[in-house]
Amino acid sequence: MDYNHIEIEQKWQKEWEEKKVFKTSQRNDKEKYYVLTMFPYPSGTIHVGHVKNYVIGDVVARYKRMQGYNVLHPFGYDAFGLPAENAAIKNNVNPGEWTFKNIETIRNQIKKIGISYDWDREIATCTEDYYKWTQWIFLKLYEKGLAYKKHAAVNWCPSCKTVLANEQVVNGKCERCGTEIEMKKLEQWYFKITEYSEKLLNDLDILDGWPENVKIMQKTGLEKVLEQKSILL
Ligand SMILES: [Zn+2]
Repeated sequence: MDYNHIEIEQKWQKEWEEKKVFKTSQRNDKEKYYVLTMFPYPSGTIHVGHVKNYVIGDVVARYKRMQGYNVLHPFGYDAFGLPAENAAIKNNVNPGEWTFKNIETIRNQIKKIGISYDWDREIATCTEDYYKWTQWIFLKLYEKGLAYKKHAAVNWCPSCKTVLANEQVVNGKCERCGTEIEMKKLEQWYFKITEYSEKLLNDLDILDGWPENVKIMQKTGLEKVLEQKSILL
C-alpha cells in the first residue's frame, strides 16, 4: 500500500485547525510553561534555517505538554522596519501589501509542518492592535524622562535618502545601492538606559546559570558606562 502523504497530512491538518488542538486555555490549574522562539521578519518567506529553530521550540513545547504543563507557545512576525522596507524597494511593491502576503505564506508553511502554535494569539508588529502597546510603553518612558531627543551623527545614504544601521554599511558604502555614505547630524530619539547601569551591574551577581564570560563582558561594559557618567557629573 502506498503512503499518500498529501491525503493523510491534509486530513490531520484540517482536524487540528477545526479542533484548535494547540490552543492554550487561560483557566487551568496546571503549572505554566512559556516557550517563545524568535519571530521571523516577513520580508520574505521561511526557509529551512527558520524551520530548524521552530522545530526545536516545538519539541520543547510538546515535551512539556506531555509532562503535564499548561504550555503557552505563541507565534508572530517582526514586521516593521528596514528588512520590510528594503524588500519593498527591491521588489517595487507597497511594503504593507508585500508584508501581509508573506505573512499569509509563512502561516501556511508552518501549518503544513505542524508546529503547535496557538494561532489565536498570532501577532504582527505592524498592526495597529500591536503597536498601540509599543506606543503606550514609549509614552510611559517619555513621561518619566527616560526617552529624549538629541543630535547625533548617523550613517546617511544620499541616494536612498535614509539612515542606515552599521550593518548596512559595507566598506563605507550603502549595501543597497553602493553609494558612499556620509555622516550626518540628525535629531534622534534615545532611551536613558544609563539610568539603570548601576542596578544592572549589581544584579549580575544574582544571575544563575549565565556563562561566566558573558557576565564578565556585561560587567566590563557597565563599568565603562558608570565611569563615563561620573566624569560627566
Ligand atoms: Zn543607498
